[in-house]
Amino acid sequence: MRRAYSIIVSAGMAPVLIMGACLALAISPGLVPGELSGLVRYGPFLLAMLGGAIAWWFNRGRAVFVMLLLLICYWLLVGNGAGFSPDGLAFLRIATLYLIPINLLILGFTAERGVLNPRGIARMLVLGLQIFVMLMLAGQPDVGSALYHLLDTRFFASTGLMGAMPHPAMVVSFVAIVLLLIRHKPLETSFAAAIIAIDVATVMGTGIIQYGYLAATGVVLAGLAQEAWRMAFVDDLTGLPGRRALGHAMAELGNQYAIAMLDVDHFKKFNDTYGHDVGDIVLKKVARELARVGGGGKAFRYGGEEFTVVFAGRGIEKAQGPLEALRKRIAENKIVIPEKNKTVSVTISVGISERDEDATDPWDVLKRADQKLYEAKQAGRNRVVS
Ligand code: GH3
Ligand code: MG
Ligand code: MG
Repeated sequence: MRRAYSIIVSAGMAPVLIMGACLALAISPGLVPGELSGLVRYGPFLLAMLGGAIAWWFNRGRAVFVMLLLLICYWLLVGNGAGFSPDGLAFLRIATLYLIPINLLILGFTAERGVLNPRGIARMLVLGLQIFVMLMLAGQPDVGSALYHLLDTRFFASTGLMGAMPHPAMVVSFVAIVLLLIRHKPLETSFAAAIIAIDVATVMGTGIIQYGYLAATGVVLAGLAQEAWRMAFVDDLTGLPGRRALGHAMAELGNQYAIAMLDVDHFKKFNDTYGHDVGDIVLKKVARELARVGGGGKAFRYGGEEFTVVFAGRGIEKAQGPLEALRKRIAENKIVIPEKNKTVSVTISVGISERDEDATDPWDVLKRADQKLYEAKQAGRNRVVS
């Protein structure tokens, strides 16, 4: 339950809202005024093109691929399939139910390689090849219809929701959705949401597939935005919010707050002794402790092995307890490095300051906390000074 909740929160509320809105429209199309119905029909094209352009701009090759895939599949479904027999069209419709989850699953598990480079271009060629083969098959009445019947299998006689989609496609979608959600990353989560949207629209019946694609292109676009937001505000190594996020948090502070500066002791020597990669693992562990410091404190990675904790609406006396407990926890923590078959530990020093008449600007308070941190170092490290 907690995990499901954290997946939803980490992906942002945007996908949930987008899918909910599209579902509401699909259930009661009357909500869309007649003159706007074209917007729904052409919306997926617009969103896929907009999303593809933004993804290209961000150099996100995987998202460009997904937007193109959705664009082409949607075009095949609503484009009245110029020149295809009814069997050919039925084949195309079924084929998209396999093509989308399989491609999104593979993309969710491959590294980002950008757009205009040999690997990025090779990826686009693979997409082109799949579409080409699909169109060729749809144009061959015999092969197309044989394959259509194969892909349109039901494992058991089913009606209603269970019968609305080929069962193998349901299994493929289900596996893709679960594996993508487990990745717990914004773009991958949006891929899972896109599969859900298209499957739900397919199961709900004919004539509403546009809402499924509207939601699918919308959530991937939101996933791109979410990923960009993360890149700007979240530190890659530790997962803590970074300096830019700290700037925002500082600007929101009121008239009472305490700020702590933390620094890992003798970390240069630690790196020299155990190696930079072990240093990175230790920083991650320290950050994990920091993220749940308690007492209403919010932790940021200030830079390097230095962290900031902001206690909004609280004074030094409220911040001291949790920080002292944190210092103790970290000092007593034996960190096992399985890769190196080693157990290591580090200590931290902390300086705390709070807002008063002498320092009313958060950055001045932070500077004072930094001076206290220096005092902690001078006094022998592994301590909290305020
Ligand atoms: P002090 O107790 O006085 O703080 O000593 P120190 O060695 O920790 O101080 P100093 O600021 O001179 O060194 C900080 C070191 O932290 C330098 C650098 O090698 C290390 N460091 C900074 N960022 C990272 C990082 O992202 N990963 C790793 N592994 N090390 C880092
Ligand atoms: Mg330092
Ligand atoms: Mg240090």
